[in-house]
Amino acid sequence: MAVTREDALQLDARDPLAPFRERFVIEDAHRLYLDGNSLGRLPKGTRERLHRVIDQWGSELVGGWHDWIDAPTRTGDALAEVLGAQPGTILVADSVTVNLFKLVNAVLDARPELTHLATDQDNFPTDRYVLEGIAKARGLELTIFEVDPLLGPQPSDVPDGALTVLSHVAYRSGALADIAAFPNDRLIWDLSHSAGSVPVELEAKGVRYAVGCTYKYLNAGPGATGYLYVREPETLVTPIQGWFGQARQFEMERPYEPAPGISRFLAGTPPILVLAAVEEGVRITAEAGIEALREKSVAQTELLIALHDQWLAPLGFTVGTPREPHLRGSHVSLRHPEAWPICKALIEHADVIPDFRGPDSVRLGIAPLYTRFVDVYDALDRLRDLVERGVHREVDASVSRVT
Ligand SMILES: *Cc1c(COP(=O)(O)O)cnc(C)c1O
Repeated sequence: MAVTREDALQLDARDPLAPFRERFVIEDAHRLYLDGNSLGRLPKGTRERLHRVIDQWGSELVGGWHDWIDAPTRTGDALAEVLGAQPGTILVADSVTVNLFKLVNAVLDARPELTHLATDQDNFPTDRYVLEGIAKARGLELTIFEVDPLLGPQPSDVPDGALTVLSHVAYRSGALADIAAFPNDRLIWDLSHSAGSVPVELEAKGVRYAVGCTYKYLNAGPGATGYLYVREPETLVTPIQGWFGQARQFEMERPYEPAPGISRFLAGTPPILVLAAVEEGVRITAEAGIEALREKSVAQTELLIALHDQWLAPLGFTVGTPREPHLRGSHVSLRHPEAWPICKALIEHADVIPDFRGPDSVRLGIAPLYTRFVDVYDALDRLRDLVERGVHREVDASVSRVT
């Protein structure tokens, strides 16, 4: 039976998470933002918190460090609740890229039995680049194996003896890996596209090492730091020896000795304003509850795929994301040979914000904290209308620097 707009409105009316939307800055209700998996919206609480931290800088000056010094581990502990980890195992600092560099080198230094590196062809580019660079610097072999994007990497793909980096949710196809089925003793998981939308359960699933991002579903803002998880932090030593990771940091002139616990992975001075934003983003996620967020996200991606089948399949679209809800994360890629001009037309002529992921995907992200069912309905309705009328054939299809 065809899905109607009234159905979508009913789903919103029954949605227990609906009130969270009010806690985000939404200046233009006509613009349908389906890119929260690239950059989450601004929580109103974050705007207020950042003003307070700026005022604290103004009034306390260097004395503020008494409060700020613990921010990377305090924020890490808050995030540990969302990701199902023990306190003291997550550090919020540096970009995902830098964290991955630190973690891969630290694991290789500590575990000589891991003699090469691996990842999959569909993994996020920065993960592949970091591994290529480390492989070159250390003279190691790097295996980049092919996967079916609709299945994502499988446990049997992981080579013996290789330290392997995989994404929990694939950035393009949205395939969700069954973490517990993998050989976690030699895996580093990238949680960038799952943290805040899918239960991760680091402890229960047996994960040893992970990195991830906070500006996507965790809504920490542009350029917000990533994080790093190590189940047993003191088994590793960071390759970047900096004064913030030093034991007894302020007894300056001593030789380098790694700090106890996860803070040994700090390098230089952490970005305090950013950490305050991460803390707020994590707080609102924890308040909603990851199980409730997941339930809503699944219902919304189901609606999206149903509308695709109803309206878009006849227009040449296919679903580039697993159809079984338990095998996908919170975004759906719709594939079409003219995906790039379609994305441009959506932004310029339909007030819908997707993103384009090459070669042929219109990627639509569901951020269950603030995306409504009716947003999904209207976005797909506008997409259908636009392609039916051929609007995408009239846009300037030149490629811009950011897609
Ligand atoms: C977004 C994303 C990143 C981002 O890395 P940064 O270094 O923080 O820019 C890394 N990995 C994956 C899988 C991502 O989706």
